Formats: sequence, C-alpha cells, structure tokens
Amino acid sequence: MNMGLLTGKVALVTGGSRGIGRGIALELVKAGCSVVINYRKNEVEAEKTLNALNEIGYAKAFKADVSSYFECKAMIEEIIKEFGKIDILVNNAGVSKVGLFIDAKEEEWDYIMNTNLKGVFNCCHSLVPHMLSKNGGSIINISSMWGNVGASCEVIYSASKGGINSFTKALAKELGPSNIRVNAISPGVIDTEMNSWLSEEEVSELQEDIPLCKFGECEDIGNTVVFLASDKSKYITGQVITVDGGML
Ligand code: NAP
Repeated sequence: MNMGLLTGKVALVTGGSRGIGRGIALELVKAGCSVVINYRKNEVEAEKTLNALNEIGYAKAFKADVSSYFECKAMIEEIIKEFGKIDILVNNAGVSKVGLFIDAKEEEWDYIMNTNLKGVFNCCHSLVPHMLSKNGGSIINISSMWGNVGASCEVIYSASKGGINSFTKALAKELGPSNIRVNAISPGVIDTEMNSWLSEEEVSELQEDIPLCKFGECEDIGNTVVFLASDKSKYITGQVITVDGGML
C-alpha cells in the first residue's frame, strides 16, 4: 500500500532500534525511503533492526543520546554529509516511568523531560536550518494519548508528551510558510517493551477499555508516519493525530 510513496527520500527515526521506532523504520523503508535509525545503547536490537531494514531497502544505524544537544547536532551533520539531506524527521525516542507522583524523584523529571521533550527540541533545532535551505521537510513527533488527557501515575511522562503537542502546533505555524510540515501522533497502548510491566490481568482490563478490543501494533504507527511524511497529507500540519483504537 505504501510502496514507492517515499522513493528518494531520507528519514531519521530516533529510537528506531526497537518497538514503535522499529515499526516506523520498517514502513518507511517499504515506502522506498532510505532510513537512519538512532538508538541510545542497545546495540543488539539496533543490529537486528538494521538487518531487517537492509533486506527491504537501505538503512544505517547511528548511536546518540537525544537528550544531548551536542550529540544530536553531530548526528544530523554526519547524516547530511553522507546522504546529502534529511527530508523526514521522526522524533520517536522516549522513556516512561510509572509510579505515584509523591514518590517521583527530581532526577526522574530531568531524565524523562530531557529525553522526551528536550530530545525533540534538540533534533528539530539541529535539522530545521537544513530543511529551510531545502525549502521543505516533514517532522513527525511521537507523543502519547496521555499527552492529550493526562495519566494517573505517569504525571511527568504526560507533561512531557503534552509539551510535545504544543511544541508541534507552534513549530508548524512558524515553519508552514517555509513548506515544512510538523505533526504529531498520539498512540494509545501499543504492544512494545514499554508496556512489558503490565500483568496479564492488567492487559485484559486495558483491552476491555479499547473499543477495537486490542492493543495497537507498531505497524499502525508506522503507516500513519508514512502518510504524514508523504504528499498524501500535503495540506495537513500542526495536527496531533490519535491512533488508539478508539480508547480516548
Ligand atoms: P521502547 O520499546 O522502550 O523503545 C524506546 C526506543 O527509544 C529504543 O530504541 C531506545 O534505544 C530509544 N531511546 C530511549 N532513550 C533514548 C535516548 N536518550 N536517545 C536515543 N534513543 C533513546 O519504546 P516504545 O514503546 O517503542 O515507544 C516509542 C515512542 O512511542 C516513545 O516516545 C513513547 O513514549 C511513545 N509511545 C509508546 C506507547 C506504547 O504503548 N508503547 C504509547 C504511546 C506513546 P535503546 O534500545 O538503545 O535503549
């Protein structure tokens, strides 16, 4: 369905070594895109994903911590040197921590905000000058449905994702005249390691709250990214698109 939609394009997917980021990278490669997957430390998973991507198309992996401005800038400069451009930026890298707000530590605020929200700033700020010089681009930020409505026991995470939603809307307004579109996707519960702490009972309780009666797959987010990256969505910017099986 996505075949050839993004032929000749270059994409960077942060946190692309596993989970949703891997699903996004796979759909982008299937659509004809060259893809760079970024990861923080898990070399084994990055290698596995890279092999799967290179069976379909062309991909590279780049290790960098998105919470570091310096590392993001160096990564983006390196990719542009090698590929000549980056047309699509998918800010997907993210971390979560579940627990009562009163038990949260200050370091948890810094860790979650620096990865989830500052990471988006770091990559956008390093790449936008390049996109401006090319007069085009598509930025897609992976938020969360909890960024829309807030989740009990995930207060810091919800705040980081709510920040991504406003960041997306504001940047879209600023960059629209330069032909750069900025959108976000708010996934519901997607079957990845991020949810591996859930007990079997909690999984079935959660599924009962989802009108489509199941967790989403990484591919569901990947397909939405391909749509937002392609000309099929050329009049869509500044939007937060919820992909949650109808849960909210
Ligand atoms: P995951 O399975 O835990 O994978 C996280 C990915 O992010 C890994 O590739 C990890 O790299 C990378 N990463 C983490 N911190 C990083 C950093 N500082 N710098 C660079 N890369 C970093 O997570 P996921 O479930 O796929 O979630 C992906 C995104 O979707 C996150 O933004 C998350 O908030 C959002 N989301 C997930 C769900 C869900 O139900 N799963 C729902 C809503 C939103 P390493 O492998 O090297 O650690």
